[in-house]
Amino acid sequence: CGITGYIGTNDAKEILLKGLEKLEYRGYDSAGIALENRDGIHIFKEKGRIADLRSAVDSNVVAQAGIGHTRWATHGAPSKANAHPHQSGAGRFTLVHNGVIENESELRAEFLQDVSFKSDTDTEVIVQLIEKFSKDMGTEEAFMKTLRLLKGSYAIAMLDTQTPDTIFVAKNKSPLLVGVGEDFHVVASDAMAMIQITDQFIELMDKEIVIVKKDRADIYNLQGEVIIRKPYRAELDV
Ligand code: GLU
Repeated sequence: CGITGYIGTNDAKEILLKGLEKLEYRGYDSAGIALENRDGIHIFKEKGRIADLRSAVDSNVVAQAGIGHTRWATHGAPSKANAHPHQSGAGRFTLVHNGVIENESELRAEFLQDVSFKSDTDTEVIVQLIEKFSKDMGTEEAFMKTLRLLKGSYAIAMLDTQTPDTIFVAKNKSPLLVGVGEDFHVVASDAMAMIQITDQFIELMDKEIVIVKKDRADIYNLQGEVIIRKPYRAELDV
């Protein structure tokens, strides 16, 4: 399983799909991408190979930001409905996740009794919680509040229609890196996925979030304190 993300000035879909192909070695049963442009969020997902996803993506959709995912099912069968990205009820938030949320049933019972779920995944709990909390607070606060409640492992990338040109990223016990380019940033489970476009990567520690934009990436802990960390140069044989 794996995650890719891109925000910059080039066509996101090709970069996301190529990155997912590089992550195929990690194993997966389905794959999907979300593309963000002025018309909104466009989601494509399929059970099966990246090649199947590639044929399902509408080549007319041009976007300069997006997130991608390969899924190794832990909660809910491998299917198109359970493939990521997942969206909150009102469609405001779009999220991909690798990992396992161990307290998902407790969280459903405590906060999400009134929500009708569209998938059988533990992941949908995350995006529904963020939507619920965002009614009373800003996206960063709702994101951090949700992450503080989660027990388990996660690498997350998320889009918010009300905060365009931004990818919200988080990590705990699942790998995730942010790559830095001249006029773009990327997100990847493994530097290998993006090494063809940048070799500068910022390592993330557990329970950190990153607010990623085309020209900056700001790291915080789950209490909202600023973390300063310089990128390192990834050296991989390609
Ligand atoms: N637990 C999530 C699911 O079953 C994510 C699995 C993964 O890491 O790909 O959908």
